[in-house]
Amino acid sequence: MDKISEEFSNSAFSATSFADKAVQRFIEVYEKLPKSGKPTAEEFTVLAGILLFQRSTGYMEVVSIATGTKCIGGSKLLAKGSVVHDSHAEILARRGLLIYLYETIKRTLKGEITMFKLGDNKLELSSDYEFHFFSSQLPCGDACIMPKDEDFEFIGMPVLTENQTTLKNKRKAENDISNINSKEPRLAPDIQRTGAKCLPHCEQDTREPGTKYHLLGQVRTKPGRGERTLSVSCSDKISKWINLGIQGSLLGILLKKPIYLKSIIIGGGVPYNQESLERALLLRNPNFKIENVPILEQSSVVFPYIKSNLRHRAGPASIVWVNLKESFTEVGTNGIRLGLSKKFLGDVKKSLQVSKYYTYNRFVQLLLLYKKETLKEMIGVESVQTIPYYEMKRKNKEYYDKWAVVKKDFFKTWTMKPDIWDFCASIQ
Ligand SMILES: [Zn+2]
Repeated sequence: MDKISEEFSNSAFSATSFADKAVQRFIEVYEKLPKSGKPTAEEFTVLAGILLFQRSTGYMEVVSIATGTKCIGGSKLLAKGSVVHDSHAEILARRGLLIYLYETIKRTLKGEITMFKLGDNKLELSSDYEFHFFSSQLPCGDACIMPKDEDFEFIGMPVLTENQTTLKNKRKAENDISNINSKEPRLAPDIQRTGAKCLPHCEQDTREPGTKYHLLGQVRTKPGRGERTLSVSCSDKISKWINLGIQGSLLGILLKKPIYLKSIIIGGGVPYNQESLERALLLRNPNFKIENVPILEQSSVVFPYIKSNLRHRAGPASIVWVNLKESFTEVGTNGIRLGLSKKFLGDVKKSLQVSKYYTYNRFVQLLLLYKKETLKEMIGVESVQTIPYYEMKRKNKEYYDKWAVVKKDFFKTWTMKPDIWDFCASIQ
């Protein structure tokens, strides 16, 4: 048992110190990664990650981390699942968790570990284990709309000088928290603004000066320059995980009940507002009771590569690291492997491991460990290799029924990418 684990077993659970120690762990893992895909001296990035905590022993382990701030446009959608559309760190860290869980379940089915209990062919995460989520800044979208904090410039956030204003306007759409504090005293109260727009078919922001600029609690698309994306903001996606579980529909097929995050920790040195975060993540559908409400808090530990005067440009690459037996790190840019030669574009086998294509392959490989009769019982068919991705997801009727209820009052405006993913797994 390492030092931090010992401290946890010997002392009462302290949320604040837990958050700080967790963030330190994420940063340690990040620092040990190779340079490829990391921001240069002028670039910033977002770090997100997921941590496993064992209550009985105090053992904590980083399960996955990811960096990234980019999302590609709607016209680049590919039905083969080979391109990663949404490379925001939070989304990639969750994909990393899924890969970790597939691996863990495989080992459980082989009788190697006991993190999941198996009963009636369905798996259940032991109540001794918790998953904690981290992001070095507030998730893009609704959570970023909050009152401006005049003092913020003193704790490490960039303060723009006048000649940087033009630059700021140019980047306005690129960065989520774009309207950064200026040194001049303000006469009227104002809010932080987001470049994440309301969905096209919905009511739009008023853009009136001051606090009424934005509508609150709206589903928004990812902020970004150029062509609009079809991916919704991280505030929306994380809220969906809180409502339905972070396992998603595919993995849910194998589980007795959803896996809920125990806490969501935001890094230090960035704007933070408890009320905005609660609104964005917990209160989107006031008529739906969230089964396990996560703790939302800010750590005082600062990820060193957040946006600042020096680091004013978003790094183009994304890194994903997953805690598997065999080392797993991959670097992507524009949704494909960094440095992938043009002649391999469109070759699904060269996709990122976090792409839909490969995560679905891993899932189907997991299904193949089950007996045919069990598969028939779980998903209605014995042969799983001919089932396309979109169809397999819908085998989890319970998940989609619940999603329909969650969406009914509020998320009904959730953007729907056309359901084009008709690819099947290709297992050798
Ligand atoms: Zn985001």
